[in-house]
Parts: sequence; C-alpha cells; structure tokens
Amino acid sequence: MSRLSNKVALVTGGSRGIGAAIAKRLATDGANVAITYAKNPDAAAAVVKEIERSGGKAIAIQADAADANAVKTAVEKTVATFGRLDVLVNNAGTAIPKKFEETTLEDLDRVIDLNFRGVMLTTHAALKHMKENGRIITIGSCVGERVMTPGLVPYSATKGAVKMFSQGLSREVGSRGITVNNIQPGPIDTDLNPASSEWAVSQKAATALNRYGRVDDVAELVAFVAGPEASYITGANLTVDGGTNA
Ligand code: NDP
Repeated sequence: MSRLSNKVALVTGGSRGIGAAIAKRLATDGANVAITYAKNPDAAAAVVKEIERSGGKAIAIQADAADANAVKTAVEKTVATFGRLDVLVNNAGTAIPKKFEETTLEDLDRVIDLNFRGVMLTTHAALKHMKENGRIITIGSCVGERVMTPGLVPYSATKGAVKMFSQGLSREVGSRGITVNNIQPGPIDTDLNPASSEWAVSQKAATALNRYGRVDDVAELVAFVAGPEASYITGANLTVDGGTNA
C-alpha cells in the first residue's frame, strides 16, 4: 500500500510548473489525481499521460479557477470519475509584477479573482464532498508574510489573504479531521518565475541558499502534508523558500 492509496486529489493549475509537479508526486504516492488548467490542453494531457505511464490514474479538466461554475463542475467531475475527494490543492495563481500605481483595475481584478477568490470558491465546492481526514492545501507564497521586492503589492496581498483564510477555515473543519494548510514557496523556477530572468537576480540574492528552488521542493512538502503523517498539522503556514524569510 502506498501512503495515498485509495485517495483522490484535485490540483488546480496542474498542467505546468509547481502544480504539475504536485500532481505527479501525489500520483506517485498512489492517489488518483484530477488536474485543472485554463488554456493549454496539450500540457495538461502530457501530465495525465506521464502519470498513466507510471501506472497511475489521472484526468485533466479545463476550468478557470476564478470561475465559480467551472470550479464546481471540476469538483463534481472529479468525484464522478474517482468516487470521492480527499485532497484539494489550490495551486492555480498568477502574478502581474508592476508598481502598484501602474497597476490597472483589470490587473487587480485578475490577481484577486484567481489567487484569492478562486481559492475560496474551489474550497467551498470541494468541502461539500470531503469526508473525514480530508486535506485542503493552498499554495500561498513567502511574500504572503514578508515582501523583499517592489512590484508585488496586489500579489502579496492575495497571498497574505489565503494565509488567513487557511488559518480561519482550519478552526471550522477540524472537528471532521480535515486539515487546512498554506504552503509558502520562495522563488521556484517555472514559466511564471524563470530563474533565468532579470527579475530573478534580486530574488535569488534574497535567499539564504543563493539559489532558486525546484518545483519538486514544493511538491515534496505538499505530499507530506497530504499524507497520514501530517494529521496533526493544521492552520499552519509552511515555508519552503530557501531562507528568503529567514
Ligand atoms: P505557472 O504559471 O508556471 O503555472 C500555472 C499553472 O496554472 C498552469 O498549469 C496554468 O495552466 C494554470 N493556470 C493559470 N491560470 C489558471 C486559471 N485561471 N485557472 C486554472 N488554471 C490556471 O505558475 P507556477 O507553477 O510558478 O505557480 C503556481 C502557484 O505557485 C501559484 O499560485 C503561484 O502564485 C505560486 N507561487 C509560485 C512561485 C514561483 O516562484 N514560481 C513562488 C511562490 C508561489 P494553463 O497553461 O492552461 O493556463
């Protein structure tokens, strides 16, 4: 028996970057995995194929994480396909780095709708199906606690919001054995935040380890929190940031 055998996980934004690594890692631990994506069906299909090639089960669902109906349908499709829902990973998110005074209302709405409102919508839909010992895991950010660079004002505000959302919700669902935790990555090499970009220089310098992290660094922590060994961890903000916030 693998540690997540008979468990079903839904990972939002699981077609690339951190979400794809989480989906593959949870599948390696034995979970059946549903991933959502917004725009790129080929990338999502590639993740599903890779999981299936390794003997796992996965499906990909197009669902904008900021769209309440799409998210509800994605949760229902996950339960209809795999029969239950044990682990929700709220990973879909984006940043639109620019100075706050140059930020447009559209930019603001996009970041808030996806990074914060979307997390609440998806969690709301998932909780209806989650039984004893469920896991709600949100990918926040180390900038949800401390901000080292300019240009991330709305982004860091949404990541601070999901931190308090997780803490608050942990108080409401703990009696069902459901844990709610917020994982706070530092700079991780993805399409959203490439280690080769000019913007990476200051982020790398702000770490204690003087390097970017890998998507698997985050996936390992998520897999631990999703598993039975972490049943007494809830309402926690777990940072995997190379020492950025040290
Ligand atoms: P990427 O941009 O590399 O990947 C984003 C993933 O989310 C893709 O699978 C994308 O699919 C999907 N996605 C994008 N928009 C939506 C949407 N509206 N609805 C559903 N899915 C969507 O991002 P990262 O992997 O870097 O980031 C993942 C999470 O980690 C985010 O919440 C981010 O804020 C957080 N984070 C990232 C850090 C980093 O340094 N990379 C640091 C700290 C936190 P598609 O291609 O179809 O759009």
